[in-house]
Amino acid sequence: MSIVTRFAPSPTGYLHVGGARTALFSWLYARKTGGTFILRIEDTDLERSSQESVDAILDGMNWLGLDWDQGPFYQTKRFDLYKEVVAQLLAEGKAYKCFCTVEEVDAMREAQMAAGEKPKYNGMWRDRTDHPTDKPYCIRFKNPLNGVVVIDDLIKGRIEVANAELDDLIIARSDGTPTYNLTVVVDDWKMGVTHVIRGDDHVNNTPRQMNILSALGAQLPKYAHVPMILGDDGKRLSKRHGAVGVMQYRDNGYLPQALLNYLVRLGWSHGDQEIFSLDELVEIFDLSACNRAPSAFNTEKLQWLNQHYIRTLPAAEVAKHLEWHIAEQKLDISKGPSLEQVIAVQGERVKTLKELVEVSRYFYEDFSDFEENAAKKHLRPVAAEPLQAVAQHLAALTDWNAETVHAAINTAAESLGLGMGKVGMPLRVAVTGGGNSPSLDVTLTLIGKERSLARIELALAFIKARGDAA
Ligand code: GLU
Repeated sequence: MSIVTRFAPSPTGYLHVGGARTALFSWLYARKTGGTFILRIEDTDLERSSQESVDAILDGMNWLGLDWDQGPFYQTKRFDLYKEVVAQLLAEGKAYKCFCTVEEVDAMREAQMAAGEKPKYNGMWRDRTDHPTDKPYCIRFKNPLNGVVVIDDLIKGRIEVANAELDDLIIARSDGTPTYNLTVVVDDWKMGVTHVIRGDDHVNNTPRQMNILSALGAQLPKYAHVPMILGDDGKRLSKRHGAVGVMQYRDNGYLPQALLNYLVRLGWSHGDQEIFSLDELVEIFDLSACNRAPSAFNTEKLQWLNQHYIRTLPAAEVAKHLEWHIAEQKLDISKGPSLEQVIAVQGERVKTLKELVEVSRYFYEDFSDFEENAAKKHLRPVAAEPLQAVAQHLAALTDWNAETVHAAINTAAESLGLGMGKVGMPLRVAVTGGGNSPSLDVTLTLIGKERSLARIELALAFIKARGDAA
């Protein structure tokens, strides 16, 4: 039997990391088994669903590289099917019309709570045939009264729920629209889903869904409920903890490879291995090695992984993602060195791509001001002479590369009997605007001859202006 998994988000917000992890687990399981991965958009809640959220989910999936084999299916396009199934259950006596008013149901609940009982629908219309013709009704599923539902959860293990605990849930509202539990069941059934991998906030729905599936004569899928993700304070991860939307991680400079690696380890392990490529995961991922306990989000670890991938992925791959940040910062790539070169010299120094752009601005953008502290320290009158000497030697170069630049700086320093420090720091501040950069020869090579010389001129003017003012 071929495996079919699905990811079934409700488009009521962005794709958050919890959802992304569930999607990843479903995707991995399908890929590992050569099965099918379905994307289903559960958009029946018309008030809370939006096209914007659908787009955000699709963007997130695409950015992570979690491709789907079928879909996206939209539940709002499947209402006829749900209606048919509800009608079928009704015709077979497996569902019934309930004419209770909201007030009646409320009163029922209040009485039960007052008596110290768990509130649930008492089945008052379950067997009645004296149906009024002029009153609105909803349709309820006839849940079995006896027996136990057993979930052999692939992550949580065996869970038993007595049918006596479950009431007859509404499967179609009085306006005829189907409810969540019904649509999920119909879709999992009709789409041939064999493995329902989802967040464990749905575990309470599972026995009800299994009962409906059984009533429909459907084969029951296997269930795997993934524990939730907690924030660093032990509470369920939410906006309060900062970034939770997948695309926000892109905006903050993370690579999808890092986030995927992070998410898989958050809830699954393979010995003490930390680094996994997606190809490797497809080989070794298994639901049985998923944690039963919730896991806490740890931004430092994600950063560590991000740094690892910035350093170790092929530069062309990192460049693909860096390009987006460069554009976002309105920098013009054609004005500076190739992104691969920048990654090679700056990759070691940063944790995120956002930082990488920040520390590499001067390759793509001219500036008219120097960082205050660096200027105060290094662009003083004593720096004028060494800067002039360096400029002279650099200007004479016909070949502009790391070796020739290196030699020119050395010769200039020697000609003045100065150590590298006295020449190097002023030069660094002059050409980059600040006190941090990779080695000078590499930095100047990437900035280019003309711009390096122009910036030294600018620094000399700055020193002069400052001297005049003093
Ligand atoms: N649409 C549900 C949600 O976003 C998921 C339903 C399911 O996976 O069965 O929470």
